[in-house]
Amino acid sequence: MTEAKRQDQQATHKVDVLIVGASLAAAAAAKRLVDAGLETLIVEKRELPRHKICSGILSPRGYRFLIENFGPLPRQALHDPTWCRGVTFHFPSMVSMSMDFFGGTTPHLHRKYSDYWAIQRSGARVMDQTSFVSLVDSGDGVSVKIRPQGGEDQWVQARFVIGADGPSSPVLRSVYPNYPKQIPWFFVGQKFHEIIECPLDEDYFHFWFHPQLGHYTWSHARDGKQIVGVGFKRGDSFHKRHEFVQQYLEDKHGVKLKPAGADHEGCAENFGPSLINRYVFGQGNVLITGQATGFLNMIGEGMSCALHSGAISGESIIEALRLNRPVQELYRKMIASEVKRTTDQWNPLKIAFAKPHEADFPKALMALSWGDRYNVLRDIWRFVVLYKEFKWGRQIAARSMERWLYGNYQDHRWL
Ligand SMILES: Cc1cc2nc3c(=O)[nH]c(=O)nc-3n(C[C@H](O)[C@H](O)[C@H](O)COP(=O)(O)OP(=O)(O)OC[C@H]3O[C@@H](n4cnc5c(N)ncnc54)[C@H](O)[C@@H]3O)c2cc1C
Repeated sequence: MTEAKRQDQQATHKVDVLIVGASLAAAAAAKRLVDAGLETLIVEKRELPRHKICSGILSPRGYRFLIENFGPLPRQALHDPTWCRGVTFHFPSMVSMSMDFFGGTTPHLHRKYSDYWAIQRSGARVMDQTSFVSLVDSGDGVSVKIRPQGGEDQWVQARFVIGADGPSSPVLRSVYPNYPKQIPWFFVGQKFHEIIECPLDEDYFHFWFHPQLGHYTWSHARDGKQIVGVGFKRGDSFHKRHEFVQQYLEDKHGVKLKPAGADHEGCAENFGPSLINRYVFGQGNVLITGQATGFLNMIGEGMSCALHSGAISGESIIEALRLNRPVQELYRKMIASEVKRTTDQWNPLKIAFAKPHEADFPKALMALSWGDRYNVLRDIWRFVVLYKEFKWGRQIAARSMERWLYGNYQDHRWL
């Protein structure tokens, strides 16, 4: 008897699709699959509703997706301030540019509750406190080992598996064990401060394009406090970087904050693959979606592309069954729109002259003096090529230009 056959006979659950992770990409995929009548099981390693480190500023496109697919948001799914008007970019030259989102304000999501709400509304069956462990794809279906907390390992037999399990995706690692060694990993951490005085407009998410401050520096209001967040590399001290940024905000922007409480938090992030137009879509009957795929833009916005790519992964499975075609072939075609959108959001040329983000950067840029326009474009370029230390410098420049001139996004497949 083959190993796959033995696991099939042992299977505790038989489903059409198993989704790993109970977040936004998972909710969107599940919604499509359940609506098409496919038996869908979601496994989530944490207890639901679970905490998720995130600023929670959903782009207008993501907001539309939530409303259209899951209905109006419950109040519990929002932090205070409940809405965000747009983004303010700050530059080393001390130029600050505020840009309102197209189409009005967007919600400030409380991820613990918004994700759980979306998952429940997808209609899928959910097993929380249950971790994905490993999988074997026999070609006809996938045998997946899952581990309920405190229980015995179980086997799920699924026709397809979707890895919607976030940046460090165990599903991706099980398909491509070497992948994590091939990309740079960044860490982000945030602290919560009581406010003494804060001139930063609380209606906006604030982001610093400042190489000296690091790859990712942000601040915004939440539930009466001010969040100060920093990105840093392995080996850097989160506390030192945070202290540096807090001092910078005080010196340059007059932000006076009390020392942070003990409730700081952080995680590893796969920033960068989308910068050079490289994504991982999976193999055989296993699809990778959401941030696990590499969908994350320059200012760390990943919810809207998680929702859309998740939905596309579900649609690809439905199409594969309908047309009796290999699912990877369809997924890679259908996901092209998300690839283009996310890659463009890193492209300095697109940012300066088109509108890849959902706010009017060109208009805000044109409102500046000639000197400030030059400073801003130079500062953005310097920020993007910070990633050159990962030997990507030439690729960034060449590929940005190529995509701008020829609209060529065909080099998007990493694995
Ligand atoms: C500090 C910070 C701020 C951010 N701010 C914003 C923002 O303002 N706007 C925005 O759009 N994006 C923001 N993002 C990015 C956004 O949070 C992510 O891009 C988005 O959540 C990705 O969604 P996802 O569904 O792909 O995966 P995730 O939300 O990462 O969810 C993955 C799920 O899989 C589960 N899981 C992992 N391993 C297993 C396993 N072995 N078995 C079972 N389950 C497993 C996890 O517990 C989790 O629930 C921010 C991220 C960070 C870190």
